[in-house]
Amino acid sequence: MSEKLEARWTDIKVTFETGKHAGKPIEVIMFEDPGYLYWYSKQESFSKLRPVLQKKIRYIVELADSLRIPGYCRECNHKRPRRMIFRMQSPKELQHVNFVCEDCDPGNTAGVISSNPTFNYVDVLAGKNIHNVNVFIEAIVKAYWKKPWRMLTQREMILFWKNKGHFYPKGKIGISL
Ligand SMILES: [Zn+2]
Repeated sequence: MSEKLEARWTDIKVTFETGKHAGKPIEVIMFEDPGYLYWYSKQESFSKLRPVLQKKIRYIVELADSLRIPGYCRECNHKRPRRMIFRMQSPKELQHVNFVCEDCDPGNTAGVISSNPTFNYVDVLAGKNIHNVNVFIEAIVKAYWKKPWRMLTQREMILFWKNKGHFYPKGKIGISL
């Protein structure tokens, strides 16, 4: 697909017709309830959605899995953090999320390390734990905007996915650029 065509296609507002996020842009749902999109994309009923909706969800999920977190490793100040570290304050409660380089592994981590920054939070955070989801999204939003995610407008959320600088190109995740 040429870049021009792709740009035009991604401009189309595609939404669920039913369900708890009916009428909401997919770009916004990824911020408000990312687990829903990951979960839905793995359901059997996914293949019954309108093709344009399937395509849009896959597209946003793919971008959400290839975040190019701006700034520095929170441990050593090297540029471009490559991993995401979840610190738990109790076995089920997320305290905060850090972005660190490939070399840093803070010894006092009580939690989980993901190999690359992504909206796809791991099982320990998944599902209905609103507190954990909020902490998690907050960390990603702060890295890009330096403000709480609840202050983002829908327009800002939509524009986020259009900025190619926010993501690694396909196949380049984890490779030093
Ligand atoms: Zn580091």
